[in-house]
Amino acid sequence: MTDFAFAPPVPPSVAILDSEERFPVRRIFCVGRNYAAHAREMGQDPDREPPFFFSKPADAVVDSGSTIPYPSLTEDLHHEIELVVAIGKGGSDIPAGNALDHVFGYAVGIDLTRRDLQGAAKKKGQPWDWGKAFDRSAPCAPIMPVARSGHPQKGRVWLAVNGETRQEGDLDELIWPVADVIAICSRAVELKPGDLIYTGTPAGVGAVLRGDRMTGGVEGVGEISIDIAKA
Ligand code: MN
Repeated sequence: MTDFAFAPPVPPSVAILDSEERFPVRRIFCVGRNYAAHAREMGQDPDREPPFFFSKPADAVVDSGSTIPYPSLTEDLHHEIELVVAIGKGGSDIPAGNALDHVFGYAVGIDLTRRDLQGAAKKKGQPWDWGKAFDRSAPCAPIMPVARSGHPQKGRVWLAVNGETRQEGDLDELIWPVADVIAICSRAVELKPGDLIYTGTPAGVGAVLRGDRMTGGVEGVGEISIDIAKA
């Protein structure tokens, strides 16, 4: 047994629907621009973009129902509602044809983004980390196991701020469906149980302010609610 210099951190985890057990999070991968309308609102041509990935630290997960502080260094914190895939079986070079066998379940997540920092990084050709991979940047609702969710191919994806709908889309608009996302991601890195993949956001991203409440959902998968602290 390894003798650590101090107690190692407790693994970050996400709730599992109707279970006392939690899903231990190993890594978080995120797909950029996976809905055509969102790619266009970000100034890109969706037809010319192969899928690309970025990461968040595992300990960026936050349970639904939490209140989080407004993050540092930004004046433009954006919401991105997303279908999250929880990986239960790992692998490299996973063929798309059996990629769905690697799914433990699905959840609703929010890819919180410091859009001003991301925009500045894009301009300078710098990494996106400080725009995307900051503390508490990956709220995630309880995971619905596949036995209950199946593999949703269509269904409304939405997010509201203080009850006003901001984002609307449907899973059937995903440019790269879940099986392709898993297959392509697994060519770059070996996926392992505990990995989460945020699959991209539909159009309508925008800013949230101190005191705002975000509510959102994916039809057939669940709902999420996150408050931004007032001060
Ligand atoms: Mn995103």
